[in-house]
Amino acid sequence: MPRMLYSQAQLFKPPRVDVLVMTPWLAPIVWEGTFDPAIMDMQFRNATIGLTIFAIKKYVVFLKLFLETAEQHFMAGHRVTYYVFTDRPADVPRVPLAPGRRLEVLEVPASKRWQDVSMRRMEMISHACEQRFGHEVDYLVCMDVDMRFGARVGTEILAPLFGTLHPGFYGAARGSFTYERRPQSRAYIPKDEGDFYYAGGFFGGSVAEVQRLTTACHQATMADKANGIEAVWHDESHLNRYLLYHKPAKVLSPEYLWDQQLLGTRPFLRKLRYLAVPKNHKEIRS
Ligand code: UDP
Ligand code: MN
Repeated sequence: MPRMLYSQAQLFKPPRVDVLVMTPWLAPIVWEGTFDPAIMDMQFRNATIGLTIFAIKKYVVFLKLFLETAEQHFMAGHRVTYYVFTDRPADVPRVPLAPGRRLEVLEVPASKRWQDVSMRRMEMISHACEQRFGHEVDYLVCMDVDMRFGARVGTEILAPLFGTLHPGFYGAARGSFTYERRPQSRAYIPKDEGDFYYAGGFFGGSVAEVQRLTTACHQATMADKANGIEAVWHDESHLNRYLLYHKPAKVLSPEYLWDQQLLGTRPFLRKLRYLAVPKNHKEIRS
């Protein structure tokens, strides 16, 4: 690293005492105050980041706000490639991109059921890791598209493997998580296991790790299908099982995935970085 000036960390003045900032396997839980953005940006100055989003059928309407706010808040100043998976390439809006940033459209088929659209993301990301991501980017960030950015989502999230706390369950007991509870499913997690409930809409890591994760989740989904079972929360259930047995190197706090309409605000949330856009589930999925 080049010479940098910044305020010194104080061993006896922890920046946050109101929230857990470290998992029991010593992975940081990323909250405002726990990191210096300038140091993180310097450390990852040479990284190229791929962002995968799926806009299948009516979900193309979410692209404009997603991309416009990503240009403001997602990895500003870094090399970024947006990978937009869609069945409607003509409906991808032309949003002006800052230097060093580009957008690639990957035309993919739509599935009939929204559950299949969601689950097949694992298969398509896994396939693209093999085909191209490995040559094109260092890190992959995989996100839902029905969202907007409201504050920095930057290099502080980067790690070989990371997951994000689901805003509906951040303080809940493991027994109440909506993990898949049927032992017949490959997403099964027993009641006495579990660290966190991770969100299906925000995970990532190095291309190699994301390839392992998405391939494993896709294979588990296929095995379930062959056995006539579908995990209760689809790809999210498989993601939770994977991250239980492959501990993430960083965990993103609910700052990184929040729903204001549903949950309002909370005193421990100093930033709202990535926010749900209200949608009519029935209408948009039909
Ligand atoms: N999705 C899509 N078209 C659909 C359904 C889902 O493109 O018809 C993609 C989209 O990227 C979306 C993600 O799958 O963000 C997950 O679905 P959704 O956001 O509806 O799930 P929720 O966040 O409501 O659980
Ligand atoms: Mn969503």
